[in-house]
Amino acid sequence: MSNQYRAHNFWELVNFGRNHRQFKLKRLISFLSIGLAVVIAIASTTLSTPAVSALQVQVSPTNPKLGDTISVVIEQEPGTFSNTPAVKLQQKTYPAFAVAPNRFRAMLPTTPLEQPGVRQFQVVAGDQVRNIAVKVSDRSFPIQRINLPPGKSGINATQYELDRVAEFKKLVTSQKYWNGPFTRPNKGRISAIYGVRRYYNGKFAKDYYHRGVDYAGGVGSPIFAPASGRVALVGTVSQGFRIHGNIVGIDHGQGVTSAFLHLSRIDVKEGDMVKPGQVIGAVGATGAVTGPHLHWGLYVHGESVDPVPWRERGFN
Ligand SMILES: [Zn+2]
Repeated sequence: MSNQYRAHNFWELVNFGRNHRQFKLKRLISFLSIGLAVVIAIASTTLSTPAVSALQVQVSPTNPKLGDTISVVIEQEPGTFSNTPAVKLQQKTYPAFAVAPNRFRAMLPTTPLEQPGVRQFQVVAGDQVRNIAVKVSDRSFPIQRINLPPGKSGINATQYELDRVAEFKKLVTSQKYWNGPFTRPNKGRISAIYGVRRYYNGKFAKDYYHRGVDYAGGVGSPIFAPASGRVALVGTVSQGFRIHGNIVGIDHGQGVTSAFLHLSRIDVKEGDMVKPGQVIGAVGATGAVTGPHLHWGLYVHGESVDPVPWRERGFN
């Protein structure tokens, strides 16, 4: 008995030693690779830009976490702009929009599905290029464990609703409709925050994260537009919005969109311009839900981002 116990302990020690060494090695490798990435970024910035760069770039927040929206403000000396700048990141190009004379801004989404670490992006304006490195930190999201009875697959979306929602999320209007921080869309308490990850029957759903914030407002409680915009999507259960339920989508401009799901009532129509605080509909339990609530999804260039920084600090 005591021998077995000792043997057991011995194996624990061996395994611990091995795991610990692997852990240290992994840390060393990740530390070296981040260091290398930063060195490359600094070197490439130095190499590709003239001694006096006409492109000034400000990135905020300075320490973004997964789910944050990254704002890239680009300034150039007056009279030197030939083209509207854009930001390139991992084969994607994000447009920048004028926010003041000689001042442009691009918004870059990040999501819980990405790996934390250094992002290298290029700011391109005409023939001028600046390489910027930004470290995106990890963030721990709450975990939800869902157990489904065997063979129960739930409700499937219709192709029609998937197409309509995908088309809506792709909107990039050059006009900026919002102004200042976003406001609460419903007075109910928050029942699920952004980014919750799930296990289904013990298996991690690697493509799932909660793409929005849930408000536990009662059926019929008003939903307010959190910011100005144009109503660009109105869909109903009878049209085939089986998962989303009755839905309103607001285009806030410059690639920023909001979707409001599971409504009992819709008070706006496509093309309407809305102001912050304006009632757009009421909380309901339509679509694939277990109870009445409002789901608010905020998208930047089609990716669901955390609305909290938009509510607290805002992007102007
Ligand atoms: Zn939700």
